[in-house]
Amino acid sequence: MRKRIVAGNWKMNKTADEAKSLLSEVINMIKDEVTGNVDVVLCPPALYLTTARQYITPGSNISLGAQNCHEKASGAYTGEISAPMLQSIGVAYVILGHSERRQYFGETNAQLAEKVDIVLANGLKPIFCCGESRDLRENGDYVAFVKKQITESLFHLTAEAFANVVIAYEPIWAIGTGLTASSAQAQDMHFELRQHIADQYGDSVAQDTTILYGGSANEKNAAELFAQPDVDGGLIGGASLKSREFTNVIKARQ
Ligand code: PEP
Repeated sequence: MRKRIVAGNWKMNKTADEAKSLLSEVINMIKDEVTGNVDVVLCPPALYLTTARQYITPGSNISLGAQNCHEKASGAYTGEISAPMLQSIGVAYVILGHSERRQYFGETNAQLAEKVDIVLANGLKPIFCCGESRDLRENGDYVAFVKKQITESLFHLTAEAFANVVIAYEPIWAIGTGLTASSAQAQDMHFELRQHIADQYGDSVAQDTTILYGGSANEKNAAELFAQPDVDGGLIGGASLKSREFTNVIKARQ
């Protein structure tokens, strides 16, 4: 059975003290209340990753993710963070290609292919984000657009390497807007993406690929989204900043 994952993307939120409170609350709630088969990935700002590590019991169902990394291993790239650095502090996942990185920092499919490579080369797992704008959803071939994001950033990988990739389908029109994709819209797109992966790597790889939904998922809509056969979990933004709500989303997936 493929992995069920709920990942919390804190984005650029929380001071150090607030981060510690949220970490301690959420980790205690998960320990007490989450008994089922779900992996939780906490993605605080990179500054707090080493602190976050101290709250996590090694071998538990909770691991750490970064929100981005540079495509080079080291060098004169002031302000950047590399995959080897993340690996060296115990990070397991890296979110790549979030629509905010594509929009505000100009990340391209080709650059993301390089980031995917360095992340995998360092034993980390990419959570690769893809998704269409509202304009494309209403006026264009949004399925072809999202498939192209996957093709251009991921399909150079061998099947063996691809097995370490998690996909997050995040329609841009649903991120931070309160406009969630309906469970049918999410399922349709996840099905299309799984088929696209099957066309490239075969059915068995596609059936083993975890595909998360992201975009205004919360404690109210999570159960219905997660009940869809091709929705394996969620990448959660705003709702991951509240311990009770995030735990409830995780419980909806277990
Ligand atoms: C995200 O940023 O990945 C996200 C899904 O945000 P939100 O849940 O706030 O829409």
